[in-house]
Amino acid sequence: MQKGSVLVTGGAGYIGSHAVLALLDAGWPVVVVDNLVTGFAWAVDPRATLIQANIEDDAAVRAAMRAHDVCAVMHFAGSVVVPESVSDPLKYYRNNTVASRALIESAVACGVSHFIFSSTAATYGIPDQVPVSEDSPTRPINPYGMSKLMTEAMLKDVAAAHPMNFCALRYFNVAGADPLGRSGQSTAGATHLIKVAVEAATGKRDHVGIFGTDFATPDGTGVRDYIHVSDLAAAHVHALDLLIARPGDSHIMNAGYGRGYSVNDVLDAVDRVTNRTIDRRYQGRRAGDPDALVADNSAILATLPWRPQLDDLDTIVGHALAWERKLAEQAEPQRQS
Ligand code: UDP
Repeated sequence: MQKGSVLVTGGAGYIGSHAVLALLDAGWPVVVVDNLVTGFAWAVDPRATLIQANIEDDAAVRAAMRAHDVCAVMHFAGSVVVPESVSDPLKYYRNNTVASRALIESAVACGVSHFIFSSTAATYGIPDQVPVSEDSPTRPINPYGMSKLMTEAMLKDVAAAHPMNFCALRYFNVAGADPLGRSGQSTAGATHLIKVAVEAATGKRDHVGIFGTDFATPDGTGVRDYIHVSDLAAAHVHALDLLIARPGDSHIMNAGYGRGYSVNDVLDAVDRVTNRTIDRRYQGRRAGDPDALVADNSAILATLPWRPQLDDLDTIVGHALAWERKLAEQAEPQRQS
């Protein structure tokens, strides 16, 4: 039996808004706390309650936890642009680490039993081995990855000291959009490959730069493990069920499909789905990009009943493209709301 509701931080953002949909679809009451700096109020399903506040606003967060009888937190709020974390590291340690500390403290103070955290494969840095498993060394190569790793460390210590368990999911490359067209990646100035590619496919950009062709991969371009955002959201709901069923156990698990695609594979998929040819411009490497980053996902498959439903590159690209077209059509109403 479900008790209480789930507080979702960053629920107006890309992954958070999909988690909100997955929770609501599973019957959970949801309260979103989002400062709407990068998120959008319209991205929050109207079945959820939206509170516009910073997560380190203890009064607002604790009032929400008490008023909504919150039993679990899903924490997505944070800053996510890796190059920006290099140029402005203190922003990342504030928004991701310090703010998470405040949120965790509020959760403890309000007796919240379960905490699910959006972590990242960036905690591994450049892995010695691919696929990378959870027991690989964590050596982040940028402040973004370190700021998330520090939050994992806080959660481990807090779960040992207080009646709260946690699950940190280390995301690989999240892409795609809700298959029903209810949400998608809406942030302006996105840098992620599939978003950039569908922007090119809809005419918002005139080309896609390929960052490096001399990697130790079959075609020389970078290989990544692209996971559909709705599969990822579903994994969070399963993780919550597990935390409730086994309150003594906490988990850190990779969230990926366990197979990699190169930049050229992704752009081939976009060409296939659109039946057009994107202009590819071969450029030099971007600083800090590993050759290949692919999840060993045996832990999540063994621990959760989660099974990928949308593990197909053309499906991921197709959903991203459908959302991009919707954004282009609705650009005006979105700016007004
Ligand atoms: N990439 C690219 N052109 C772009 C954006 C990304 O060639 O415009 C490459 C990048 O070098 C990496 C892969 O695509 O090999 C995925 O990059 P993304 O920024 O999407 O995610 P990351 O793996 O860096 O988190």
